[in-house]
Amino acid sequence: MTTYKLLVLPGDGIGPEVMAEVEKIAAFLTYEGFVKFEVEKGLVGGSAYDVHRCAISEDDMERAQAADAVLLAAVGGPKWDNVPYELRPEAGLLRLRKDMQLFANLRPAICYPALADASSLKREVVDGLDLMIVRELTGGVYFGEPKQIIDLGNGQKRAIDTQVYDTYEIERIGRIAFELARKRRNKVTSSEKRNVMKSGVLWHEVISALHVREFPDVQLEHQLADALGMQLVRRPKQFDVIVTDNLFGDMLSDVASMLTGSLGMLPSASLGERNATTGARKALYEPVHGSAPDIAGKGIANPIAMISSLGMALRYSFNMDDLADRLDRSIARVLEKGLRTADIAGGATKTISTSEMGDAILEEL
Ligand code: ATP
Ligand code: MG
Repeated sequence: MTTYKLLVLPGDGIGPEVMAEVEKIAAFLTYEGFVKFEVEKGLVGGSAYDVHRCAISEDDMERAQAADAVLLAAVGGPKWDNVPYELRPEAGLLRLRKDMQLFANLRPAICYPALADASSLKREVVDGLDLMIVRELTGGVYFGEPKQIIDLGNGQKRAIDTQVYDTYEIERIGRIAFELARKRRNKVTSSEKRNVMKSGVLWHEVISALHVREFPDVQLEHQLADALGMQLVRRPKQFDVIVTDNLFGDMLSDVASMLTGSLGMLPSASLGERNATTGARKALYEPVHGSAPDIAGKGIANPIAMISSLGMALRYSFNMDDLADRLDRSIARVLEKGLRTADIAGGATKTISTSEMGDAILEEL
């Protein structure tokens, strides 16, 4: 059996608490012979600053580059509000994304039936929702040049941001979306604003050509980003995989997250280019939530987003879809039993701690 190297970066705030539950599950999966993980631990964010006076050490950067997958919990907190800007906790995460060239951000929005009443929408609209937003992460208007504020004199200033996309950037993110759809419900919705943006025209053209050339078996539709936003809160279950640029993806994935109820439930993956010889991708898995300093150290954080992030690693880095399904089913069953951490409590349910939630999921596994 292949041994997979996992680099675990617990980070700050509730990070170490939710990561402890993932470590428990990773150890169990290895012990039971489902998979062979070799787990290394590193420091990132404030916890790295406290020890090394940097947001991530060169040593840990190298280990991240060498790992088969990196699991990160969360960084930041008021303790580090006054550290120099380039050493701030978030700089560690940005460095990882940049050096590992993680250009694809995958954000699933899954609504477990047991939690459908916690959504911002009516139960029937979201019950059983399972969509995936694929957001381009390293290009577009957040990075395009020129990017500046020009003083025009006479009290006037001009701000410039530039949206730039090259064919290869659209192709590689499109390929990820189509490949994902083949493993899911075989449908991709591509979104841009070609009616007002040249980048949207190129996006539409490149995705359409890629579809004809490499993925004719997958159903493709195009929706303008504003219309898609509307459809997301109107009839979200029509979507399977949504692929879009950095800016629209940022906004749409936050909208989608509120369809599902709680921040404590949502995992994410960031993927890089495939290695031409091994076929493996650089990959980082992390919950959508932050370090939640307000509840850190209390043992009440919800570890499900972090545990689902391990599930995404099983699926997208190790091709172990069966095991990932088993993990997802275990989470669903624990919720069906009425076991809840405080953030998702409500109704006839039992409120349990972070580690009790980890244990309950382990029990189901
Ligand atoms: P960041 O800037 O790092 O994204 P943030 O301030 O946007 O952080 P979070 O740290 O994610 O937000 O937390 C927002 C609130 O949601 C927290 O105050 C916390 O109460 C709640 N929360 C976030 N994650 C969890 C979790 N795993 N379990 C329980 N509650 C959570
Ligand atoms: Mg935030």
